[in-house]
Amino acid sequence: MPGILIIGASHSGVAAAAALRSAKYEGDITLVTEETVLPYHRPPLSKDALSKDGYSPTLLRPESFYTNNRIDLRQGSKIVSVNTAENYALSADGVRFPYERLILACGAEPRRLPPQIDPDGVAHYLRTQDDLTTMKAPLAKAKSVAIIGGGLIGMEIAAVALAQGLQVTVIEAGQRLMERTVSKSIAGYVLDRHLNKGLEVRFGAMVTSVMHDDSRNIDIVTLGDGGEIVADIVVVAIGATPHETLAREAGLNVENGILVSECGLTSNPAIFAIGDCSAWYDPDLDRYIRNEAVNPGQDQAKIVASKIVGLEMPPRRLPRYWSHQAAIQIQMSGDVNGADMEAVLNAPASGAFSVLGFNSDCLVAVQTINAPQQFGKLHDMIGMKREEIATVLDVEFPPPHHH
Ligand SMILES: Cc1cc2nc3c(=O)[nH]c(=O)nc-3n(C[C@H](O)[C@H](O)[C@H](O)COP(=O)(O)OP(=O)(O)OC[C@H]3O[C@@H](n4cnc5c(N)ncnc54)[C@H](O)[C@@H]3O)c2cc1C
Repeated sequence: MPGILIIGASHSGVAAAAALRSAKYEGDITLVTEETVLPYHRPPLSKDALSKDGYSPTLLRPESFYTNNRIDLRQGSKIVSVNTAENYALSADGVRFPYERLILACGAEPRRLPPQIDPDGVAHYLRTQDDLTTMKAPLAKAKSVAIIGGGLIGMEIAAVALAQGLQVTVIEAGQRLMERTVSKSIAGYVLDRHLNKGLEVRFGAMVTSVMHDDSRNIDIVTLGDGGEIVADIVVVAIGATPHETLAREAGLNVENGILVSECGLTSNPAIFAIGDCSAWYDPDLDRYIRNEAVNPGQDQAKIVASKIVGLEMPPRRLPRYWSHQAAIQIQMSGDVNGADMEAVLNAPASGAFSVLGFNSDCLVAVQTINAPQQFGKLHDMIGMKREEIATVLDVEFPPPHHH
């Protein structure tokens, strides 16, 4: 009896299997993944795991979880097509996985430099445990690293490398760090902290080539202005692209992610999509939003499980993100670049503070540095008015700082 097939066994896929069992789904659950290892936490790859000598992966669930919950985990199996007429998925080695309902949780992969820029494949990328293994040995020997991309992952790698005493250069095409995920003020604060540790940054820099110079045994990154950065290793972290080929070829609607309704349903009534590969319809904004973070995918997994089992949908939660960059722990939620005014709680000099982003006096975003408890409290206040928040927290906001 074909039950539920989940393609992709990472944060979102495993969360979906767990949520289905918690919701008392009794049918078969098959969880298929291309990776050959037990499903593991991805965030440590650019944090602790990168600095330690002997990395042992932090598993999402112990192996017994899958057997105890009758979840048929199929590792090392790449799905190459989905037959929506006969409801089955086909793996590269010819196995048919029938389904009654299909959940696509196939995630994303790093955006790569085009071959004309890095013809010999010199640059490293970091998404999987295999990527980490490939990168660790050369990184351990390196005295310098060039990181292309000043987003969250690039800055996390930079923080680890700085802590290990490497000379670190971040090459960023934009004019500031982490533009998509944190506000200008937080980006400025984090930049200062890293500059104090010796970071070098090139803003507005376009990479035109990445090469290895055999005679000097170094990598060379050439920039559009003719400048060169030499380093022992080059790491690229310029964003991720969703795995959407399977969905597109199955005739589903796809546009920067697999498009799904408020309850995760694709344009095919038997197929759902969750996590990094999916773009969810947001009725408040009247557009599709694709998140790339652990928490949103887990929330979506619960919504889809409820929908399949026929339970009431859990309330929609705003996506939450985090990033650990050495001693700086950033948490954020809401529309960080949509605020017209910011208020700061506690002094940034103390190393632990919160930035509240308001739009027309309404809280639209929360960002905290080393203040996890305050984050939890403030996150639930998104949508509330400034005055109301001041009363609840019993604080007086400092004079508004308008953008
Ligand atoms: C280095 C790094 C650091 C990060 N740090 C943070 C952080 O601090 N906080 C945070 O919130 N988020 C972080 N993220 C993002 C977070 O890891 C992702 O949002 C999360 O992994 C998404 O989970 P997912 O299950 O949707 O997709 P993925 O984790 O991408 O998993 C998809 C899985 O599906 C498999 N797959 C794909 N196609 C097929 C197929 N055709 N057949 C079989 N299997 C297939 C893939 O091999 C993969 O195992 C980080 C990501 C990286 C790479």
